[in-house]
Amino acid sequence: MDLLNTLVDKGLRRETPTRGEALAVLATSDDDLLDVVAAAGKVRRHWFGRRVKLNYLVNLKSGLCPEDCSYCSQRLGSRADILKYTWLKPDEASKAAAAGLAGGAKRVCLVASGRGPTDRDVDRVSDTIRAIKEQNGGVEVCACLGLLSDGQAERLREAGADAYNHNLNTSESTYGDITTTHTYADRVDTVQKAHAAGLSACSGLIAGMGESDEDLVDVVFALRELDPDSVPVNFLIPFEGTPLAKEWHLTPQRCLRILAMVRFVCPDVEVRIAGGREVHLRTMQPLALHLANSIFLGDYLTSEGQAGRADLEMIADAGFEVEGTDRVTLPEHRTGGGCGAHDDGGCGAHEGDGCGSHGGGACGPAPSGAGSCAGAAEESAPRTDEPRTDLVAVRRRGAGTDLAPNA
Ligand code: SF4
Repeated sequence: MDLLNTLVDKGLRRETPTRGEALAVLATSDDDLLDVVAAAGKVRRHWFGRRVKLNYLVNLKSGLCPEDCSYCSQRLGSRADILKYTWLKPDEASKAAAAGLAGGAKRVCLVASGRGPTDRDVDRVSDTIRAIKEQNGGVEVCACLGLLSDGQAERLREAGADAYNHNLNTSESTYGDITTTHTYADRVDTVQKAHAAGLSACSGLIAGMGESDEDLVDVVFALRELDPDSVPVNFLIPFEGTPLAKEWHLTPQRCLRILAMVRFVCPDVEVRIAGGREVHLRTMQPLALHLANSIFLGDYLTSEGQAGRADLEMIADAGFEVEGTDRVTLPEHRTGGGCGAHDDGGCGAHEGDGCGSHGGGACGPAPSGAGSCAGAAEESAPRTDEPRTDLVAVRRRGAGTDLAPNA
């Protein structure tokens, strides 16, 4: 396919595709899906080999947020039955982080619900960062605390933070439909503050909120402009008790196309599969490793992921290897910058938490209705586009509980 040859050439040269080319990737058919994955996989291997970076989430403060992000189980008025707790103490957070690191993670992502940190919160998190760094040599720490005020990014950097995450989530034109308590511009401002303070910027998106292909391309091109070092791709987990609980739009095939598009637009950036991986990619997760070079190990902020051991087995079985702390994640030309030229990867997970939406392959792509293999009862043929609430498990272990974390 000419489109894919063009995109591979551009990806290897770090050249930005046109919007039309990015849209065309999203519009490819299921018949062409493996060709799309193979093409984007060439770009991924060129810049990152077969390495997979593991990141580990520690939810420092869960729920009770005054903001109204529609996708978030921690939002104002959320009826989702999630864990709710206030700030973990530094030693509690360090203990949780150590579990992830022992499981193979090289980055710890410290996340707290809320609009943004107070200066006292920055003190707390600074103490936590120091505790984690003292106890775990070589660890990368990313903070994800919401909107930053002047000077806070610098203080986090001084405390030893390597990166700061704040996602754009969706296109500027639809942002107001998703959240009303802060703006898209607020989010851009925080990513720029992190950048300016010398933190590695991490910023990504959430797919599956009812957005159009144009919205997805808009947000990914906006991210390329912002030049983060890492781009987490969340697939909406439609939590019961949130306004987007009924928004089950994703299929594994759609998720793969989205990841391929992100890889083509941000070829040399750490593309991370974030929340929604197990829920939406399901049995297709290994194929997604050909597109993304980074995942979260174990559980998410408020939902449970597959067992950490299963993550490691999947990586090995698919022919990839876990990236060690002795390797720099980004290509050499980026050790200093972002989505086209920067420093070190980030995080990506205030909010969405991450998991995803469906799966099930019948005998060939079923039309948007029931699958139909010859001889199979119609109701027994799995469809990829039906709600899979059975795959959404609220996190009940790890940080904020007495139970061991999943790592
Ligand atoms: S995404 Fe962050 S700011 Fe928005 S409701 Fe959730 S915790 Fe609050």
